[in-house]
Amino acid sequence: MRPPILYPLFAAVDSLAGVGPTLAKSLGRLAGPRIVDLLWHLPHGLVDRRLSPCIAAVTAGQTASVRVKVIEHAPPRNRRHPYRVLTADASGELVLVFFNARGDYLARTLPAGEIRLVSGAVERFGDTLQMVHPDYIVEEAAADTLPAFEPVYPLTAGLGGKVLAKVVRAALERAPVLDEWLDPAFLARRGWPAWHEAVVCAHAPQDEADVEATAPARARLAYDELLANQLALAIVRRQMRRKPGKAHPGDGHLAACIEAQLGFELTSAQRAALTDIRADLARPARMLRLLQGDVGSGKTVVALLAMLQVIESGAQAALLAPTELLARQHFAIIARLAEAVGVRTALLTGREKEAARRATMAGLAGGEIAIAVGTHALLQDAVAFDDLGLAVIDEQHRFGVEQRLAIAGKGGGVDVLVMSATPIPRTLTMTVYGDLDVSRIEGKPPGRRPIDTRVLPNHRLDDVVEGIGRILSAGAKVYWVCPLVEDSETLDLAAAEDRHAHLASVFPGRTALVHGRMKTAEREAAMRAFRDGDASVLVATTVIEVGVDVPAATLMVIEHAERFGLAQLHQLRGRVGRGDAPSTCILLYAAPISDAARARLAVLRETDDGFRIAEEDLRLRGAGELLGVRQSGLPAFHLADLAHHAELLAIAGDEARLIIERDSDLAGARGPALRQLLYLFERDQAIRTLGSG
Ligand code: ADP
Ligand code: MG
Repeated sequence: MRPPILYPLFAAVDSLAGVGPTLAKSLGRLAGPRIVDLLWHLPHGLVDRRLSPCIAAVTAGQTASVRVKVIEHAPPRNRRHPYRVLTADASGELVLVFFNARGDYLARTLPAGEIRLVSGAVERFGDTLQMVHPDYIVEEAAADTLPAFEPVYPLTAGLGGKVLAKVVRAALERAPVLDEWLDPAFLARRGWPAWHEAVVCAHAPQDEADVEATAPARARLAYDELLANQLALAIVRRQMRRKPGKAHPGDGHLAACIEAQLGFELTSAQRAALTDIRADLARPARMLRLLQGDVGSGKTVVALLAMLQVIESGAQAALLAPTELLARQHFAIIARLAEAVGVRTALLTGREKEAARRATMAGLAGGEIAIAVGTHALLQDAVAFDDLGLAVIDEQHRFGVEQRLAIAGKGGGVDVLVMSATPIPRTLTMTVYGDLDVSRIEGKPPGRRPIDTRVLPNHRLDDVVEGIGRILSAGAKVYWVCPLVEDSETLDLAAAEDRHAHLASVFPGRTALVHGRMKTAEREAAMRAFRDGDASVLVATTVIEVGVDVPAATLMVIEHAERFGLAQLHQLRGRVGRGDAPSTCILLYAAPISDAARARLAVLRETDDGFRIAEEDLRLRGAGELLGVRQSGLPAFHLADLAHHAELLAIAGDEARLIIERDSDLAGARGPALRQLLYLFERDQAIRTLGSG
């Protein structure tokens, strides 16, 4: 259970005074529905409201605060004119300008002859210096209500900066003082404040340096978040390693047979990965390994050969895929090769007929079926194995830690191999996988033709459509990707539907549409029509399945390519170039784009190496935007920015490991504070894992 001291942070924002349903809704859209979300919504700038010595010292075009004497009011002659109030000091004059103002209100707040402190954006209008709608008008006696510095927050439509600042101040008052979870010596060495002070400071920048990622308060908060992430992963990993594994040395006879039938030689990268995996499998300890390789790098073959070693040792293997389509695709390849050497395989997706399903379950429980390929259906409690030795999880970022534990729980000491085609830069791998052992397959099998990538402005769209007509008549298939704009799924969908309608009018009866709002079955039906049926042009939002294999698809068009992350574009591009024919990827951008944006797209033209692209993407955009967090499986950090805090990530990883080595159940002196940290960052799942010792 979450510790009570954190309850106030997880209360809804509308529990703050002055936050009604409308404001709560805006806050929810901007930051999140709870008070803690507001605390994590850090300012990206600040306004300096320190008093200028005099009017003459004020610079037009900036926010300024000055002490002025009210000289006279000049009410407007008609409604279109503003209400003006002339003020001055010994050095000069400043006109305060108000549109649609109420005269009685202004007469009260700015009485002629009185001194006021005014603060706001100052501009020059002809010869006069003016301030339109001052942000603050303060009596001299209340000078301390004028903040010296004011944080500036990222905003959303319908939410003003002043309102947000006020709500965040109220939220900060709910922030408790928490016991320190960091090592005091480390804290001192870094010069970081305690947690409470850090949150307060992060929201009260005093100069530009304070809003930089490296400012002590921000670095501390980022580190906390990274440590929570790393600690949670370390706990789960330890849990998985706690149960002893089994040795699956194999004797190589099945694997050798299949390797001979592949019709190609493994690349040296595949060979190296397989050697790692084979050694792991042969050891009695459990394997927890990530097999990372670009789309098409040949991971599946490696996984299959690994499975065979386990089967040679008398155990079974399972391959878990995120969608039915992918499960079927894997099954088609694996079944053909495995059955040829007498290894029985079965598919389990939840869509089989009852009798077939029962037969599969019986075969798995009895051990006659050696390889199961399937979806989440494999995770059901009713699915039992005789002796599951290896679980291969494909494109695992779609699966949570919980599911990894679930499949691993289906046998005593199951070895786990996670396959990922997401080209995450090295620095980020550990945020997703902790310190899993990693094998990487770099490069591609020989003979693969590079995809001809072109970057074109969108006014060339008609030429592109014409080109499609030509290649369709040659029997090719085309992906057309419409972007997803974070803000409005509805608009995206409309754009994709419009494009589909447009292309359907040019190529009647030959198009299909897939998008995220479709039911899974509908979507898979559309994908199937594209792969096996009449649909030759597939219009899609970015939901095209990772790993989908349609060899006849030789052209991909991506609209508004400038809105995508490079790594995401690369992943999309990986859908083509899967057959023997040369393939093309056209990146359409909405002109004009900046030189930087064009340079970004040019990276894709230059290289086909997913890892290099991912590193470039990280360098050019920052991790937050990398891949589009939701699709990448990267954790959505609120406070840590891996473009700036990668060094802290490495330290957090080391510290998490050390903590778990010394006190695996977080039962020691620092334990309660560390558990609080995990709860604060909502790593509750890891804490439950602790409990299940
Ligand atoms: P991944 O799972 O990494 O996306 P796959 O294992 O599906 O890649 O391999 C992609 C294609 O390349 C498959 O058709 C596979 O048979 C083929 N392939 C794999 N390894 C090699 C190799 N060493 N030489 C030639 N072709 C290969
Ligand atoms: Mg694959």
